[in-house]
Amino acid sequence: MSLENKTVIITGASSGIGEATAKKLAGAGAKVVITARRTERLNELKETIEKDGGTALVVTADVTSKDDWKNIIEKTHETFGKVDVLVNNAGLMPLSFVENLKTDEWDTMVDVNIKGVLNGVSSVVPDMKENKSGHIINISSVAGRKIMPAGSVYCATKYAVRALSEGIRLEMGPKYNTKVTSIEPGFVATELTQTITDDDVQDMLSQFADLKTLEAEDIANSIHYALTQPEHSSVNEILIRPTNQD
Ligand code: NDP
Repeated sequence: MSLENKTVIITGASSGIGEATAKKLAGAGAKVVITARRTERLNELKETIEKDGGTALVVTADVTSKDDWKNIIEKTHETFGKVDVLVNNAGLMPLSFVENLKTDEWDTMVDVNIKGVLNGVSSVVPDMKENKSGHIINISSVAGRKIMPAGSVYCATKYAVRALSEGIRLEMGPKYNTKVTSIEPGFVATELTQTITDDDVQDMLSQFADLKTLEAEDIANSIHYALTQPEHSSVNEILIRPTNQD
């Protein structure tokens, strides 16, 4: 299936996997709506995409705000007429040990990684019902399949994203021809670890220093693969790890 003229909303497009995905999909002909909180980074990305002949719309948004989502959908409709694909990618990973009681960070993870994803889903479902098509890509993680110390809350959010993906697929696939894919990456070299404030976790992470991580482009390629399969073929899950990650 071609992405030519498809409208794709990508959250968390200001860095890492979201940024690489925006470049990859715009390069394949999609009109990308790039959203995140850091407007300057989004404007730089738009410039790069347009220099390479692609089309991008910047909408600054916090995924936890329902008003911001309303604005994303309004701007997308005004500019491109419809929504075909949502890549629910925005997320945070402030890993911490439970005993250190970083409860504000637990709240933020639940708000962004779960409620933010739900806000995205509820915003695009009307278009997908009406058009009897569409594709929702949710970025879960290896942490949505395997629990690690210091990852109790982060893993819980990523298990939730996997569960939601399967539930939405079961309801929207047969009835509205909508595809749903859960992407589950292992370690990817991005800015994700910068939100970690627990010093005990930094010590734990040093054991992974020799790991040859994935690049954001590897995940963008997986997303592109899921989106370009034929109409009758729905890729439900992609688990992708660095070769030497256990
Ligand atoms: P980055 O830190 O590079 O990207 C995270 C993105 O999320 C940023 O663009 C950030 O933009 C955005 N974001 C965070 N909070 C909000 C918010 N409240 N509203 C809107 N946007 C927000 O990390 P990655 O690219 O690695 O992460 C992308 C996704 O991939 C996440 O869901 C992560 O959990 C998942 N993942 C990452 C793995 C890895 O090893 N890197 C492995 C498995 C999954 P801004 O700050 O401008 O708002």
